[in-house]
Amino acid sequence: MLELRQVHKAYATPQGPLTVLASVDLSLAAGESLALMGESGSGKSTLLHLAAGLDLPDRGEVRVAGRTISSLGEAGRARLRRETLGLVFQQFHLVPSLSVLDNLRLQARLAGRERPDWTAELLERLGLAGLARRYPEQLSGGQQQRLAIGRALAPRPALLLADEPTGNLDEGTADEVLELLLALVRDTDCALLMVTHSPRVAAPLDRRLHLTHGRID
Ligand code: ATP
Ligand code: MG
Repeated sequence: MLELRQVHKAYATPQGPLTVLASVDLSLAAGESLALMGESGSGKSTLLHLAAGLDLPDRGEVRVAGRTISSLGEAGRARLRRETLGLVFQQFHLVPSLSVLDNLRLQARLAGRERPDWTAELLERLGLAGLARRYPEQLSGGQQQRLAIGRALAPRPALLLADEPTGNLDEGTADEVLELLLALVRDTDCALLMVTHSPRVAAPLDRRLHLTHGRID
């Protein structure tokens, strides 16, 4: 589902190039869940951005669902994101002018995959069925992140990329949201790459990898 081969990424800085990823190999099978761990600044978000085609590697290859990211143009990568990937970040990234229900609908529609029965089931499982007509600003942080997860999963993506998805929530709410995310991913046969600092958050996933000085150990 996701494959990185000898991926190298450096950023230009005033002090010269900063190598963030060096010869990184990673592979994630369909339906598998993987926690990507490592210290702050170790390159976790950079790797996730490359997997999402939001940035390109300097060298090496990133393949998502059998497509080589760097062989696609900007439009091709955007399409791959819409149709194949779900993205969840620490910030909730909701459309403020759309209701809870319309946030879910929009994402499915953009992928060309509107499934009213699935949207209704999602709303129910997110615990948002009674709040479908509210707007994001009228939700608690935990509810907003549940909606963000719902948005990402509304088109039934093959791969969910999540960057510290519970990082902005208190511990109790984080546990609840994580449990929901894992159940939804499992029930939809979606592969998951999740960045987290927390061993507790990483524990229930199938595999854990650590990034240290730009390498996976
Ligand atoms: P955190 O756990 O704090 O989120 P991270 O592991 O996600 O950290 P990255 O965001 O991938 O780390 O950043 C890795 C390194 O690259 C850091 O040293 C960061 O300062 C640097 N970096 C990230 N983005 C850029 C950029 N656009 N330009 C220059 N340097 C960058
Ligand atoms: Mg990060």
